[in-house]
Amino acid sequence: MRVVLAQPRGFCAGVVRAIDIVERALEKYGEPVYVRHEIVHNKHVVDTLKNKGARFVEELNEVPDGAVTVFSAHGVPQAVVKDAQARGLPVLDATCPLVSKVHNQGKRYVAHGRELILIGHAGHPEVEGTMGQVGAPVTLVQSDTDVETLTIPSDTPVAYITQTTLSIDDTKTIIAALKRRFTDIVGPETTDICYATQNRQTAVRELSKLVDVILVVGAKNSSNSNRLREIGHEVGTPCYLIADGSEVEPDWFNGAETVGITAGASAPEVLVEDVIDALRRLGPVEVSELTGRQETIEFRLPPELTDSTAGRATAKV
Ligand code: SF4
Repeated sequence: MRVVLAQPRGFCAGVVRAIDIVERALEKYGEPVYVRHEIVHNKHVVDTLKNKGARFVEELNEVPDGAVTVFSAHGVPQAVVKDAQARGLPVLDATCPLVSKVHNQGKRYVAHGRELILIGHAGHPEVEGTMGQVGAPVTLVQSDTDVETLTIPSDTPVAYITQTTLSIDDTKTIIAALKRRFTDIVGPETTDICYATQNRQTAVRELSKLVDVILVVGAKNSSNSNRLREIGHEVGTPCYLIADGSEVEPDWFNGAETVGITAGASAPEVLVEDVIDALRRLGPVEVSELTGRQETIEFRLPPELTDSTAGRATAKV
C-alpha cells in the first residue's frame, strides 16, 4: 500500500500556542492549572496535559478561588472574562489571535451601527465566544437556506463575520446569499477562515486527486477536521475521520492501492504516525509526502510566560 501524507496537516500556530500556554503555566506556577473547556478539540492532547497536571472544566464556577485559569483557543464570551475578573482569578488567555481578530472586527462593525451576522455552527465554543464578545445581538446563520428565513429588513445596514474553521466553499455560498438578501452589507475583504483551515482544505483537495481513500486524523468535535472529511466526500473519495490508529477498519482499503492521510489543526503528528503503524499491521506500506505550502506563522505567548524564552510557541505533544 502506498501512503501519501498531505502537506500541511496537523497542528496550526494557534493550537501550538494554546498547548504551550498550558505547559508553561504548569512549569511556572505548578499544578493544578485549570483550563476552561478542552484547550483544543483533541482527546490525546487533553489527556497528555491532564497527566501533566492540567484540570479541564466546562464552567468557571468549577475553578477554585485563586487557581491559575486558562481560556481555550476557541475564545470565551465577555461574561466569562468579567466573571474571572470579578473573582480575581489569574487568567492566561489562549484564545487564538485569529479568533480575537474576528471578535475585534465584529466590535468595529457594531460600533459603526451595523447589525451583525455571524456565519458559523451553533453550539461551537468559538461561535459562543464570538457572539458573547461583540457586545450586541448577533444573528447566526449556518447555511444559505438560513439566509432566506432571516426577518431583518433587507435595507438594514448589516455586516457579516465568519467562524475561522468553516468550509471555504460553503462560506462563499452563504456570503453570496447574504449579498443577494441585503442592499447595504459589508464584510471582511477576505473571509475570516484562517490560513491553517484554508491550507489544510487546499491540501486535502490535492491529496484526493492522487489517492483511493482518505483518512482524516482528528476528533469528532473538531470543526476543521470535520470540514476536511466533508471535502473528501464532496470530491467523491471515500473519506474517514478517525481519532487514531485504533479506529482504522481493514475493509476500507479493499481494492485501494493508495491511501491519503491528513490531520486537523488540533491533531498531533504522533497520531498520524499511529495511523501509519495501524496500516503497517495490514501489510507493507510505502510513505511519501506531498510538497505543499510550508507554514511559517508563529504566535507569541502571553508576556507572563515569556520570562525565560524568546516568547515563541513550540509545543508538539
Ligand atoms: S485553526 Fe486557525 S483560528 Fe483555529 S486555532 Fe488554528 S490558526 Fe487559530
